[in-house]
Amino acid sequence: MLSKDKFVVVEVLKKAVFGRVVLKRIRRYVKLKSIILWFFSVIIMVEFRIENTDGKARAGVLRCGERIVRTPAFFPVATAGAVKGITPEVLRRCGVSGILVNAYHLARRPGLDVIKQAGGIHRFSGWDGFIITDSGGYQVMSLGENVKVYDEGVYFRSPFDGSEEFVTPKDSIMWQETIGADVIMAFDECVGYPVDEERARRAVERTIRWAEECKKAHKSEQALFGITQGSVFENLRRRCAESLVGIGFDGYAIGGVSVGEPVTESHRIVHYDCGVLPENKPRYLMGVGSLREILEAVNAGVDIFDSVLPTRNGRTGQIFTLEGRLRILAKEFRFDNNPPERGCDCYLCVNFTRAYLRHLFVSGDILGPVLATLHNIRFLERFIEKIREAIAEKRLSSLRQIYLSQ
Ligand SMILES: [Zn+2]
Repeated sequence: MLSKDKFVVVEVLKKAVFGRVVLKRIRRYVKLKSIILWFFSVIIMVEFRIENTDGKARAGVLRCGERIVRTPAFFPVATAGAVKGITPEVLRRCGVSGILVNAYHLARRPGLDVIKQAGGIHRFSGWDGFIITDSGGYQVMSLGENVKVYDEGVYFRSPFDGSEEFVTPKDSIMWQETIGADVIMAFDECVGYPVDEERARRAVERTIRWAEECKKAHKSEQALFGITQGSVFENLRRRCAESLVGIGFDGYAIGGVSVGEPVTESHRIVHYDCGVLPENKPRYLMGVGSLREILEAVNAGVDIFDSVLPTRNGRTGQIFTLEGRLRILAKEFRFDNNPPERGCDCYLCVNFTRAYLRHLFVSGDILGPVLATLHNIRFLERFIEKIREAIAEKRLSSLRQIYLSQ
C-alpha cells in the first residue's frame, strides 16, 4: 500500500509525464504540419485561388513559393529596384504587397553580376514582398533609338550609353531569372495606336513565337506570365490569347492597352481578352492606374495592376483624393490647414497640412515629393482594399456607381 504522500507524488509525476507526452505530440504535429506546408510550397510553386466572385470580378490569393498577394492587387513601379523616395518599411505601412521592377534597366544598371552577388533582387533591394519583373521588351522598343524588330529579337541603340544592342526573348528570360523576382514576363512586341491590321498581325505572330521561346528558356521556379497582343482587332487578340494558353503559362497579362487608344477601346479589349483567358489563372493589366480603369478592369475579371501614376504624380505635387487631384502648388492652399485628404490614414494626412506640404514643394525640399508619393500610394492601396471588400460582399456594382459618378 502507498502512503497518502507517496500517492500524491506518483500522481504529480504521472501528470507531468503525461503532460510532457501531450506537449511532445503537439510539437511533433506542429512540426509535421509546417513540414507539409513547406513541402507543398516547394512542390506547387505557383497557386492562384479565387475566394470570392461578384459577376466576373474575382478576389483571391496568388502564391508564388512562400510569398502571397491578395488580389485584386495594385503594385507601384520601382523601375530600378526602388519606389523613388519610399523605403520598403513605408511601402509595407501603406499596404503595398508587391512592386514591379524593370529587367532591362536592372540588367544595365547596376548589372546582373551585382544583383547576383547580392543574392537576388529581394535581398539587394531590401524588399521581401512580391516582385514582378517587366520583360524589358516594352522599354527597349520605347526608350531605345533606331529600333529594328526582327523575328529573332530587337536591335536598338542603348538609352544608357548609345551602344548597339540586340536583345532576344532568351536574353530577357536569362535577365529575369538572374534578377530573381517572383513573377517574370514573356518578351512581347507591343505596337502603338493607331496601327493597321497587317502590322498588328505581324506583331501577334512574333509575340506567339517569342512566347514559345521564353517558355522553352524558362528553367527557374519563378512564375512565368504570357502577354497578349493584337491591338484593337478581336480576331488577332483571340489568336494571340488562345495560342498563349496553348503554350501554357502561370498567368496572363493583357498587353497593348493604354498605348494611345480611346478609353472605350481599352475597356473593350480588356473585356474581350478576359473572356478568352482561362478562369483559373491570374490576369494582369500592365500600366493601368486610374480609378475608373481599374474598376472597369476588375469588373471584367482582372486581378493585378501596376502603374507609375501615384509615384510620378506625387513627385510633381499632384495629390490623389476622392474629389479629384489637388495641385498642391496652387495658391489657394497657402493658408489651408486641412490634411491633404480628409479621412486618409497615411502618415502625411495624419501629421501635416496642405499648407505645409505646399511650403515643402515651394521650398524645393525633397520631403514634399516623398510625402506626396507616400499618400498617393496609400490612396491606391485603400482603393484596392475597398474593391476586395466589395467583391467579398457582392456590392462591386454600387462601388462602381459611386466612383464612376464622380
Ligand atoms: Zn493621405
